[in-house]
Amino acid sequence: MNILLMGLPGAGKGTQSEQITQDYPVVHIATGDIFRQAIKDETPLGLEAKSYTDNGNLVPDEITNGLVKERLKQDDVKEYGFMLDGYPRTLQQARALSDNLESLDSSIDAVIYIDVDPEVLKERLSGRIICGSCGASYHKIYNPPKVENTCDSCGAHDFYQREDDKPEKVAHRINLQMESIQPILAYYEELGLLHRVSGENSIDQVYSKIQEVLSKL
Ligand code: ADP
Ligand code: AMP
Repeated sequence: MNILLMGLPGAGKGTQSEQITQDYPVVHIATGDIFRQAIKDETPLGLEAKSYTDNGNLVPDEITNGLVKERLKQDDVKEYGFMLDGYPRTLQQARALSDNLESLDSSIDAVIYIDVDPEVLKERLSGRIICGSCGASYHKIYNPPKVENTCDSCGAHDFYQREDDKPEKVAHRINLQMESIQPILAYYEELGLLHRVSGENSIDQVYSKIQEVLSKL
């Protein structure tokens, strides 16, 4: 199963990915997570990406495309398939992905777009907290850890707010990506791959809609 999970920042891609990977043996590839890890490790990629991610801008296509291209060649992806989360984010990335997959003799089975109103996104991002150990995402009000200050996934106790979730960065990210996402949705709609799912229901309800799509693949 090869799928793309798309949505504006805060739509619930990371949250739904956690559910999907519990039920499907697919390789979760989140470009945002890869950049954050590289920044933490201070690798050359991280040093290059930091100025973009910190300001809520997109990392240039050449860097992002090269990274995904290499990741898709790996054996786990060949064996289990991929779930790309947060990629593509420009039409140029979408086209590069099509070319890469063609050269790997692979293809996309479905594109799932989680649709959420921008005003709701702002509220979600401003309350988002991340587990400093495993990266699981929570919301202070809508989706708190089951046990206070303890990650459901790994049991760690340190949570942080992402630099780009600070209020002054959030509106910029949403506005920027709202523009760049439209032609990508049109591109996949034209290819007959696009499934729109409302992301404004509870996490479980959104997941059921995603499961409906996945069950037909
Ligand atoms: P993305 O990966 O698309 O940027 P996340 O999955 O990190 O988004 O979700 C953004 C924030 O919204 C998190 O704080 C998450 O707990 C919360 N969230 C996700 N899905 C829902 C939902 N259906 N209802 C309410 N809050 C949600
Ligand atoms: P995310 O965790 O998906 O919200 O991504 C965090 C940040 O990483 C984004 O704001 C961008 O700076 C960068 N990023 C993630 N995915 C991409 C992408 N496909 N293209 C360019 N930049 C990206």
